[in-house]
Amino acid sequence: MFGWLRERRRRAILARPFPPAWLEILARNVRQTAWLSDDEAEAVRAWVAVFLAEKRFEGCGGLEVTDEVRVSIAGQAALVMLGLEGEHLDRLQSVLVYPGDYLAPKSAPLEGGGALEWQEERLGETWAGGSMVLSWPRVVAGGRLRDGPRSVVIHECAHAVDMLDGEVDGIPPLASPGETRGWAAAIDDCQLHFEEALDEGRSVPFDDYALESPGEFFAVASECFFQDPHRLARFDAPLYGLLRQAWRQDPASRVPFRRPP
Ligand SMILES: [Zn+2]
Repeated sequence: MFGWLRERRRRAILARPFPPAWLEILARNVRQTAWLSDDEAEAVRAWVAVFLAEKRFEGCGGLEVTDEVRVSIAGQAALVMLGLEGEHLDRLQSVLVYPGDYLAPKSAPLEGGGALEWQEERLGETWAGGSMVLSWPRVVAGGRLRDGPRSVVIHECAHAVDMLDGEVDGIPPLASPGETRGWAAAIDDCQLHFEEALDEGRSVPFDDYALESPGEFFAVASECFFQDPHRLARFDAPLYGLLRQAWRQDPASRVPFRRPP
């Protein structure tokens, strides 16, 4: 779509009142919205409205896509996108939602012909930025802060943001090539620090799935950055600083130390 047409449509979307029922869903399923300033809360509502108007949601495996599903997903995404002003993940066209963790068919060629085929359990994934696949119970658990540092929506948004400048390489778009070089070197050190902590049997704030690849490190650490920012900052202050630079926001400044029950 042409930029000017999109802008005009977005202005029309934003002129509509935000449905009170959506506010209730945000309060219930995106707990972090309770800690936003008025300006941030307004920015979240605007981002949600545009996201719901522009993205196609599809229920898979019998899941019915209701406003609860759409607003809960959009709200968590809006929260992490708060600092990246004007970024609406335009490449992302559809959000597929499953009623639970789902099985993805996998296959690998066998030597001498044929292929090995199996099913792999997934919570979510992002396909080349065009679609995002999510497990609904995980969406709710993350949004209600009931899944430790985890959030499947934040994880997939991190991949989508990582992809904005090309491939998933664990390096999100930054202001300049110089900044990117410094950031990339520093995040490597953080990954080593995380590996060392695991080797030494120390407690770590996020899952070791982060070591699958640099892209997963960025995504998994980003989940913790938003969901449990104080613990991440205590574990590795430079890593917290890098993620603050990447996401252009500081969740530790708003998330209370003590979690509500
Ligand atoms: Zn991932």
